Amino acid sequence: KKRNPGESEFHQAVEEVLKSIEPVLEKHPEFIENGILERIVEPERQIMFRVPWVDDNGNIHVNRGFRVQFNSAIGPYKGGLRFHPSVYLGIIKFLGFEQIFKNSLTGLPIGGGKGGSDFDPKGKSDAEIMRFCQSFMTELYRHIGPDVDVPAGDIGVGAREIGYLFGQYRRLRNAYEAGVLTGKGLTYGGSLVRKEATGFGLIYFVREMLAANNESLKDKTIVISGSGNVATYACQKAQEYGAKVVAMSDSKGYIYDKDGIKLDTIKQIKEVERKRISEYVKYHPEAEYYEGKKVWDVKCDIALPCATQNDIDVDYAQKLIDNGVIAVGEGANMPCTNEALDLFLENNILVAPAKAANAGGVATSALEMAQNSMRLSWTFEEVNKKLDDIMVNIFKMSDKAAKEYGMEGNYIAGANIAGFLKVANAMMAQGTV
Ligand code: NDP
Repeated sequence: KKRNPGESEFHQAVEEVLKSIEPVLEKHPEFIENGILERIVEPERQIMFRVPWVDDNGNIHVNRGFRVQFNSAIGPYKGGLRFHPSVYLGIIKFLGFEQIFKNSLTGLPIGGGKGGSDFDPKGKSDAEIMRFCQSFMTELYRHIGPDVDVPAGDIGVGAREIGYLFGQYRRLRNAYEAGVLTGKGLTYGGSLVRKEATGFGLIYFVREMLAANNESLKDKTIVISGSGNVATYACQKAQEYGAKVVAMSDSKGYIYDKDGIKLDTIKQIKEVERKRISEYVKYHPEAEYYEGKKVWDVKCDIALPCATQNDIDVDYAQKLIDNGVIAVGEGANMPCTNEALDLFLENNILVAPAKAANAGGVATSALEMAQNSMRLSWTFEEVNKKLDDIMVNIFKMSDKAAKEYGMEGNYIAGANIAGFLKVANAMMAQGTV
């Protein structure tokens, strides 16, 4: 904490992992002797840069850009870019740190990194978004590459932004290196299922977790926070498995539809019109909108936080438990505080931890890289099957590691341990670098 003052989210992410791996360190003192812990919490490289851009009225703005290249022991750095006004180094470092273990869990050869900017895309014109992305890439391009560092989307960065970023990269490099970014459009190197992957993968993981505990998604009442990329496709897949999603949100409030959310309306409002979720009640007057409230007030069997970090604190966790929740699936990164997670575990609530449960997005990004390298595209069914298999495997690894270290059913610890072991062993084999 002294070394990284003020980076509270980063401290929180590190504390959670270090606590989980205590039994591993007891069994493997060689990790301590070889300085694995000191090295794994220190990014290999951190880049911060100025992003100047001109708005539609000719005014000049200056934002800050970040790319934290955290760990490349098992592959090129890989992780998304977040554009949100709250972004600062502590958020990018927490995300980059978690990405190391998540990427390891996918079983694919990708290291951990993350980046972004404190730029707020809300209310900006398409032309402003494009100029910002071009300025951002004008600095970032010298630090990335298909074998070096491969960014993707995250909050505030979707297909539109990736398109502008890729266009500028290609122009600056004078080369068509499709594998430098993932989440691309389908006409220029994108992969089918990438858009849906994080949300679908979350539900595949939750399905496995429930099945291992003699439960299923069928007829369960689900509440989802957020209405962005992850939330939307988690809702779609959950509905396909026969669950009923009754509430979704954005940063301003939530909607409650007792008959089940109509996903086409959410897609229309969020993906086409880029408007607030409050619009939903205009299409469905029988639904209710609660301004300034969180979805965790709504009674449910399964809670899927898919918005942002620290969405469920200990009070909301208690409320969910009092309302009879049986499982929590973390679609967002670090959506529960560490105290909330402890409370869930004490009450035997099943928790699908973010690093494992939302790894489907980055796994499918790695499949996009593979297709780019082969200059081939797989069908929707092929990619979806690979994604499903990867999520099943991640669940098995998390379950097995938890059992091996005497914490059966604690998938948080299991995922942290399994993710850590692969990276730590690779770092050991490669010497002190
Ligand atoms: P989007 O930008 O598509 O959607 C984000 C959603 O969360 C929006 O509904 C947004 O509401 C809400 N939100 C964002 N910030 C806040 C905040 N500070 N307070 C309240 N609500 C907020 O992002 P994604 O769906 O891509 O990402 C959601 C989460 O999933 C993030 O934690 C991300 O790191 C994680 N994730 C994403 C992956 C991906 O493939 N996209 C992969 C793995 C993890 P509003 O519009 O009002 O801001």
